[in-house]
Amino acid sequence: MPARADPFVQRRLLDLARIDQAMSAAEHRRRTLPELALITAGTGRVDQLRNAAVLARTEVGDLDRAARKLDNEIDAVRARADRDADRLAAGTAPAKDLENMQHEIVSLARRQATLEDEALELMERREVADATLATTDRELGAARADLDAAQQRRDDAFADIDDELARAAADRTALVDGMPADLTALYEQIRSRGQVAAAALNGSRCEACRMDLDRSALGAIWAAGVDDVVRCSECGAILIRS
Ligand SMILES: [Zn+2]
Repeated sequence: MPARADPFVQRRLLDLARIDQAMSAAEHRRRTLPELALITAGTGRVDQLRNAAVLARTEVGDLDRAARKLDNEIDAVRARADRDADRLAAGTAPAKDLENMQHEIVSLARRQATLEDEALELMERREVADATLATTDRELGAARADLDAAQQRRDDAFADIDDELARAAADRTALVDGMPADLTALYEQIRSRGQVAAAALNGSRCEACRMDLDRSALGAIWAAGVDDVVRCSECGAILIRS
């Protein structure tokens, strides 16, 4: 059964529809804020760089440990070669031992040269690992700063949008409170289908669906009383006649 309402009251549905459209637009903006995609991508990048930094730091630590071990080995070889050299110089050992010591000194020198080559190679790898760690730390710092900035912009935008929504919700409540319940119930029922629930009839055109009403629909609308609530024959919106 069609609702009836004073035309002045009916006109207020246009304000209500305007508020609802503004709220829908604000909610859409909140859901589709460009910062949200930036934050998702930025969080992934920070995670990835954080893992890379852990790996790079581990590599540097491993190389340091290996270098220390190698240094100890070089020291031990050198100490042994020095001891042999001292005994050789003293010339007190039996001839057979002297010969063995000379062989050993040669082999220790070879061993030391090999170990020193390894130490040099470790040092070069350490330089590369250091550079990788420094680059990764720098990129991680930049990625964190970008992410923080995007989160700050999102929070600011959310605060603005939420203020706007709160003001609109208060306006809406005040507006609805002054309207007949059956009229707002009809409005809400139409709106719950996800469409514009009230719009102006502009000539023969419904401003909700932007369709022109046919002659018989228009005739029925013009024949209705001013208090009758009329609907668009195309989309069902409540039509406000001027
Ligand atoms: Zn319509």
